[in-house]
Parts: sequence; structure tokens; C-alpha cells
Amino acid sequence: MANEQDLMERIVALAKRRGFIYPSSEIYGGINGFWDYGPLGVELKRNLKDAWWQDIVRCPPAGPDGLPLQMVGLDCSIIMNPKVWEASGHLSGFSDPMVTCKECKKHQRADQIMEQLAKSDWVQEVIQFCVVQPDGRAIIHGKELLGWARKRGKKIAPGLALVRNPEVTISWMIEKAAHDGPAFTAQEFVKHVATEQFAQTGLVTPCPYCGGPLTEPRQFNLMFKTFVGAMEDSSALAYLRPETAQGIFANYKNVLDTTRIKVPFGIAQIGKAFRNEINPRNFTFRSREFEQMEIEFFCHPSQADPWYAWWRDARYKWYVDHGLKSSKLRLRDHQKEELAHYARACADVEYEFPFGISELEGIANRTDFDLAQHQKFSGRDMTYFDDETKERFIPYVIEPSGGIDRAALAFLCEAYAEDEAPDENGAMQRRTVLRFHPRLAPVKAAIFPLVKKDGMPEKALEIYTALRPHMTAFYDEKGAVGRRYRRQDEAGTPFCITVDGQTREDGTVTIRDRDSMKQERIASDAPTLLGCLQDRLRR
Ligand code: ATP
Repeated sequence: MANEQDLMERIVALAKRRGFIYPSSEIYGGINGFWDYGPLGVELKRNLKDAWWQDIVRCPPAGPDGLPLQMVGLDCSIIMNPKVWEASGHLSGFSDPMVTCKECKKHQRADQIMEQLAKSDWVQEVIQFCVVQPDGRAIIHGKELLGWARKRGKKIAPGLALVRNPEVTISWMIEKAAHDGPAFTAQEFVKHVATEQFAQTGLVTPCPYCGGPLTEPRQFNLMFKTFVGAMEDSSALAYLRPETAQGIFANYKNVLDTTRIKVPFGIAQIGKAFRNEINPRNFTFRSREFEQMEIEFFCHPSQADPWYAWWRDARYKWYVDHGLKSSKLRLRDHQKEELAHYARACADVEYEFPFGISELEGIANRTDFDLAQHQKFSGRDMTYFDDETKERFIPYVIEPSGGIDRAALAFLCEAYAEDEAPDENGAMQRRTVLRFHPRLAPVKAAIFPLVKKDGMPEKALEIYTALRPHMTAFYDEKGAVGRRYRRQDEAGTPFCITVDGQTREDGTVTIRDRDSMKQERIASDAPTLLGCLQDRLRR
């Protein structure tokens, strides 16, 4: 746990240091839940969006019938007629039950409290004073727990009853363990520390952060409000979209009427979405402004189940193909109880971040819910007429909905590695490397002259100029070459090309591979070099 936290801190530090991600408006102290992408981050994000757009809209794979999918793109406005949000249910239903800590004032989602408690530092420490016997009986080390409560507890969980009133709470816990016998397991212990002791003292569930008491859950609407035009009254009230999907539904008829597309087909969109998240956290994972990549795939109701299964598997595979190891990735089908009332099936693509397993993308069979709602609220006909079968119906919708920022963060976490590389003198040094999939790497090739003389900078600049129209390239002539390699490793650049003394003799340069650190000599004429790089980038 501590290691993982430490790892996350190192990733965040690297992201800042190398210009991937900065806190928004940092010169004024930042603003919680908002982030800016620096020169390397913006390239990573753009590569991610380009890869998705290419693979989904411009060159989609063949569907289950072997035919290429029919996909088109869309770019809708962020602010739409507020009726859209009435129809979609966001105005009434887009709110999470929240609790607030009365001590530290942190707002948290009520449905995530138990999960947060399990990860909480104070729970992790307190549980060590409960030793489970082979017969399942728990023994509480009261004296040590008292010591913890009086010193360490005061620092990390000052609001906890165990800390504020240690003698009474501990004697109650020991009694409870003796009385309940084998039923009092380690989990029970945590549960008691976390909840029941508070029931005894008249308090509710404690805060995972400070141990203080939490309020009852309250509803909280996540949509950002704004006003359109000069008036600031309810007639001018509008919302920043909390998802891009509704713009697609609102335009479904436009697309049908202005193209020759037929069901089954999909509309894809990439764009900003805004949610006034109560507790933005885990770096960019839960932000208040983020980008989504969403697909609404319209099909005949009888075909929705196979299309759902197809999209679910295709989206999972897309992440694996771009470098997320399947051991850290999982496809989790939702249980019936978890499904929204309109959804027939739903699965999440989840990734094991250093802070835990969390959702990257959700794939849902949303039935005809959204189109039927918009038909009801707008009065416009949302049915589709099939010329061949002469059937009229409202299509079912399969929705793969992912977040660009979450995906970028997952690729960043997956790419991050520390190993050793030789320095200028051949001594092994620790290096940080980002092993991005070449398609996502912000810079594809860095070009260096070995030294700043003997015509090497001129030749290196010539190569750099020849490569730039074809890929993001970087030129660097400053400092020892070993250090330049390591700077590129940290940026995730897959290939470094160095012009050296031999270049003038035989026209070759070295090409160094980021991951294996092996160097090979290749011809430096532009077509050969470009061909060789493009070939390696495709692998
Ligand atoms: P969560 O349960 O984590 O809040 P969600 O299920 O509400 O997510 P959706 O409404 O399904 O998320 O949104 C689709 C995708 O948009 C998510 O899979 C995620 O990648 C992205 N996303 C949603 N909320 C955020 C956020 N606050 N910050 C960054 N990305 C987000």
C-alpha cells in the first residue's frame, strides 16, 4: 500500500517535471479537480484520441458478420438546450448521495465509504492490534492499541472515538471479542472499529481520512450550471454537459437524414465533459473537467445482445493492443442489481492503478431508453424505417463510453518503469523510463549529434528536418549523450538517432531502442531512415 502510494507520487512528480500534466492555474494555488496538459502530455492525449478516432471512425474493424462497421463522427456543443438533460434524466437523477466529515469537512460519496475505509491508513494500522487465532478467534492487544490511540492515533485519526475516548472503547472491543468468540474475526474487528463502536457512543460511520463522524447521506447534483445571455434567472439557466452521449442522441435523426447510413451504425464523439465531482482525487482519474470518447451504436433490438458482446470484447482488446497488460486489466460484467433501470447489460473495463482497480470505460446496452425519452420530450419521431423489411422501430443502443484522461493516466502508469542504464563511463545508473506503445509515445524519435563539431550538428539537423513532417521528432545537442538518452527515456521516446564520427565515413547513424537500449547502425539517407523508423513504430 505504502509502496503503491509512493509509486503514484513518483508518477505524479514525473508528469509535472517532464511537462505531461500540471495542476491548473498553479500560479494562483491551483483549483481542485482541474488539470493542464503540458507539451508532452498534450501529444500523448492527441495520440490517444487519434488512435481511437482512426480505429473507430475512419478505419473501424469488421463486425461479427465480417463487414466493415458503419461509423461516423460528430462534434456537438457543450451547452445544449436544458430540455436535453430533463429528457436524459440527468436533471433529476444525476446526483450521488454524499456524506461530509464533521471534523475534516471532506465530502465523500456515501457508496464508496466502506471501500475507502478498507484502504484508510488508520484502519490499516489499527487492524494490526487484532491477531486472529487459528480457530478464527480474534485477540485484541489492548495495551498496544491504547499506546497507538494516545500517540499515533492523535496524528492520523484525531476524530476517531478510539482516539478521543480510548479506555472505554478498547475495553468495549475486548469484551465484544471475548463475547462473540470465533465470530469476531479481523474483518469484524475493522467493522467494529469503523462502525459499531460509534453506534455505542451514539455516532455514525467514521471518516476514512481522520476518523471523524460523517453526516447522513445527502443528494448532490453533479452538473455545472451557467447562464446563457444577459439575464441570470431561471429562464437563462443552462448546464455544461456532464457527458458527450446526449449530443449524439439529439443528433441521431440529423445524421440519418443527411447521410446514406443504415442501421446498424455508430456515431462517435470525442469532447469535454464536466462534473462537479464532490471529491476529485487520484490525480486526473476523477477530475471536474475531462474528455470523453463515446460511441452510440444503433442496432435492431433483436441484434442488441450480440452487438453488446462484440463491442465489450473489442473495447477491452483495444486497451490490450495499446499496451495495457491484461494482468492489470479486467473486464467486469455488472451484476443485475448494479444495472441502471434502463440497461440490459453493462461491463466495465477496469485497470489496476497504483491506487486500486478502477473503471476506464463502461460498455452498456442502453436499450431504446434514450431515443424514446428524447422522442417523448421533443415530440420528434425517433423511429427508424427499414426499407427492406418494412419494419419501423426505435433502435437499441450499445454505448462504449471511455475517458481520455483516465486512459492517458492508465497508459502513463503502465509505461512507468525504473531500471538501470550505463552512464557515459559505463557505470550503471538508475533510470526512469516510460515504455509507451510507439503509437502513443509523445515523441517518436530524438536526433542527436554526438558532439557539437565536425559537421555533426548540421547532419543531425538535416535528419531532424527530414523526419519532422512524418512524425514528432526532437533535436538535442546539449550535454553528454548518455544524459540525453536518459532524458528521452523519461519522456518515453522509443528511438534515438545519433550522428557520430562514423557518419561522415560511411553515412550511417546509430539508432538506439528505448527498451532494450541496444544500438544498431543504419544508413542515414532520409528514405532509408524514415522507412526503418516507420517500420519499427508499427511493430
Ligand atoms: P465513476 O463511477 O468512476 O464516477 P461513471 O460510471 O460515472 O464513473 P460514466 O458516466 O460511465 O462514468 O462515464 C464514462 C467514462 O467517462 C468513465 O468510464 C470514465 O472514463 C470517464 N469519466 C467519468 N467521470 C470522470 C471524471 N470525473 N474524471 C475523469 N474521467 C471521468
